[in-house]
Parts: sequence; C-alpha cells; structure tokens
Amino acid sequence: MKFENKDKLDLLIIVVHPDDAELGCAGTILKAVDSGKRVGVVDLTQGELGTRGTAATRFEEAAKASQLLGIAVRENLKMRDGFFRNDEEHQLKVIEVIRRYQPEIIITNALRDRHPDHGRASQLVNDAVFLSGLRRITTSDKEGEQEPHRPRLLLELIQDRYIKPDIVVDISEYWEEKIAVIQAFRSQFFNSDYQVEEPQTYISRPEFMKAIESRAIEYGKDIQVSHAEGFTCSRYLGVNSLFDLL
Ligand SMILES: [Zn+2]
Repeated sequence: MKFENKDKLDLLIIVVHPDDAELGCAGTILKAVDSGKRVGVVDLTQGELGTRGTAATRFEEAAKASQLLGIAVRENLKMRDGFFRNDEEHQLKVIEVIRRYQPEIIITNALRDRHPDHGRASQLVNDAVFLSGLRRITTSDKEGEQEPHRPRLLLELIQDRYIKPDIVVDISEYWEEKIAVIQAFRSQFFNSDYQVEEPQTYISRPEFMKAIESRAIEYGKDIQVSHAEGFTCSRYLGVNSLFDLL
C-alpha cells in the first residue's frame, strides 16, 4: 500500500539564489497559491557572495518573502554560492528534493544569463530532473528509500538577459504584490522609503526595478495584458484545447 505523501507539492521552484524565485516568477507563484496549489521554493545557496547583506539577512528576507508568497515550503540546500558544481554530489542533493516533494511542475533558473551561477544551476536542475526519474539511482531520506519521480513539466525563468519566452503567464492582478515580495529583500533592491548604507550594485539601482517592470510589460503586450512573466521550455508545450490559450 502506498501512503499519500504529505510533503507533495504541485509546483516547486529550484533556484540558486534567495530572490531568484521572487524576481523571476513571484506573480506565477502568487497566482498558483491563490488557486489552491501547494507551492515550494528551494534555494541552492544562501547568496553569501552578494555585495550587500549577509547570509543571515538574506535568510530573514527570504522568510519574509515566503510569508508574503503564501508558499508551503522554503528550503536552503547551502551549496557554495559561486562555486557549486553540476556533478554527482550536487545532482543527488537536488534529486532528493525532487523525490521528497514530487512536484508536477518545476521552475528553475534561466539557461544562460549574466550571472554564471544561473546557467550552471539551470543545467544542474535540468540534469537532476531527468536522473530523478531513473529507479536505479537510489536515494533515501528519514522515511527510507525514496521513489523515483520526474515532474511532467520543467520550465526555466528568464532573468537578466533577454530571452524570447516559449510561454508567458498573465500576472497583471499580482503585479503590486510581486513588487512587495521583491522588496522584502530590503538589502538587495531599491526602495525609496529607506536607504541601505552599503555599496550600490547592479540590482540596487532604481533603474533595475524599472527594467523588471518593462520586461513584464513587454511580455504582457503580445497577449494584451498589462504584466506577464515569461518562461522557456526545452520540449513542446501542449494544451488540451487551443481555447485554453489567451
Ligand atoms: Zn540569482
């Protein structure tokens, strides 16, 4: 007899830095949670190489953002920021997470981007998603040997560099909430309400927040909504009916 997995998630975001999930797909997460889906975020590293803030502040900020997102799970695998590898050791850690939460859909980092961690994390998660479905790769957790699991869909975020999306999700109704979630990372992003006494960075300038919104507007324009988030996928995206498409 197979017991129901109480950890099971509908949607799992596995990304390298605390704040990648928020920047890339907070709207999609908020919308999924609102429709009753169980969503989780697993960060691979603590973002300890970031110019501003520390691992401790990023942890607190991620906890605040998680609360605003309404997600069921947030976990940190504490791999080394900047220096983790896509090798067997790291793949097994990601496989254990996939098998524990058995998500239907996984979202990971952009396949290529300005920050080299993003592409490497994306490749790591892409490889782990495939390997997680192979029963001869055995992993275990405190409940014993884990079942193989491969999600039915793996999508990649679009982050700093422009990438033509394969699918866009209308997040117009969630735009204001998305900004609030991003600004939970107080040490990282611009907010006119307070100043952080640390060096300015690429992402802490006010222009960065404008660029985030411009991108969302650009992705929304084609489907005639105000804001959208874009994703890529390495396989065809299927629908039951063309009328499901916006
Ligand atoms: Zn990042």
